[in-house]
Amino acid sequence: MSKITYEKPIVEMQGDEMTRVLWDWIKEILLDPFVELKTEYYDLGLVHRDETDDVVTREAGEAIKRLGVGVKCATITPNDQRMEEYKLKRLYPSPNGTIRAILDGTVFRTPILVKGITPYVPSWTKPITIARHAYGDVYKATDVRIEGAATAELKVTDADGNVKTYPVHKFTGAGVLQGMHNTDKSITAFAHACFNYALGEKRDLWLGTKDTISKIYDGRFKAIFADIYEREFKDKYEKAGIKYEYTLIDDCVARVMRSSGGMIWACKNYDGDVMSDMLATAFGSLAMMSSVLVSPDGNYEYEAAHGTVTRHYYKWRAGEETSTNPVATIFAWSGALAKRGETENNAALVDFAKRLEKATLSTIESGYMTGDLASIFKADGITPKKLSSEDFLKAIASNI
Ligand code: NAP
Ligand code: MG
Repeated sequence: MSKITYEKPIVEMQGDEMTRVLWDWIKEILLDPFVELKTEYYDLGLVHRDETDDVVTREAGEAIKRLGVGVKCATITPNDQRMEEYKLKRLYPSPNGTIRAILDGTVFRTPILVKGITPYVPSWTKPITIARHAYGDVYKATDVRIEGAATAELKVTDADGNVKTYPVHKFTGAGVLQGMHNTDKSITAFAHACFNYALGEKRDLWLGTKDTISKIYDGRFKAIFADIYEREFKDKYEKAGIKYEYTLIDDCVARVMRSSGGMIWACKNYDGDVMSDMLATAFGSLAMMSSVLVSPDGNYEYEAAHGTVTRHYYKWRAGEETSTNPVATIFAWSGALAKRGETENNAALVDFAKRLEKATLSTIESGYMTGDLASIFKADGITPKKLSSEDFLKAIASNI
């Protein structure tokens, strides 16, 4: 059998710990036998990030801009403990944060639904996709520790040098302070990405923010979405039979819980971070959540929504077999390959990506899966069999 080929390389970003191990196995067992992989490789493993002073992360982000499609393995965001463990030169920022800052855009996270894994919320029969704004707010904030009594003000100097100051707080003792921002440009790009994605999927779009409290900041998100909807999307949405709705985030959360799912839920950066973990868990497992960053200029970065699964890695390093779930990482690859197939009108590549996803799901549905799923799987007449990660990947390969 000849392998499937394609023209333009995909940006491949290797990562850390257990997901780094899974990454190599996925390539070896599921991809290499079928596809002549052509990638521009960036090692974002913490060791190499430290060796390159994190330049490699920025280069990877720039490469996605150039090549249009990237696939990323989970990476460690270092903290003090990691600094010690890896003897780092400094505390590097989150690679996802660095790449998102280069690409801008919106992260869409969708649970991977499979028969036998029932959501904890029984009314959710359709997937709920979180559209997370991937720029600014607390992820690009200035954090300050106030040591004692102090007066805090916001100072804004405009392009002509005019200065305005705004009171924040008169500290009588120690505390904390934070300054954050967003831009009309990024919020507008976020709105366009959400409206287009929901239209493409023919699903309703919801936006929730806290504009009752944060009248100017969150109010800006509400106003920009409303304006773009009225001017560019109202007619298209009515024709497609879908709706755009704005509600207060509190109400939004309550209504999502009572719904049957199916909507695209646009969230500000932090809300999207937290809510997507909640949704993934409620739909069965953090390891069953796909994630794609869509930039305003049409670049795509696919990844798993979970982290590097540290606890499993330490077991694996100690020589034990682990049953770490590779599904979200497989879907990151299938997403990237399908997108590359789409951009090159390469039906064979798109077809392979679909087959890979179908084979993954049917392997689980026929009772073969990793431990996290085996413990919650329920289907008549099937006793779930817990496999090691490698055996699970081999089972999928035999189903392709
Ligand atoms: P995590 O790696 O997602 O793991 C949290 C727990 O969830 C695991 O201990 C495991 O539970 C379960 N889990 C997650 N993925 C799984 C999978 N594929 N298969 C089976 N179980 C899975 O999150 P974390 O422990 O908070 O973070 C670990 C490292 O990942 C950190 O250094 C963090 O910086 C990084 N991180 C990276 C990204 C990213 O690159 N996108 C995202 C989040 C975190 P059990 O141990 O109970 O089995
Ligand atoms: Mg999170």
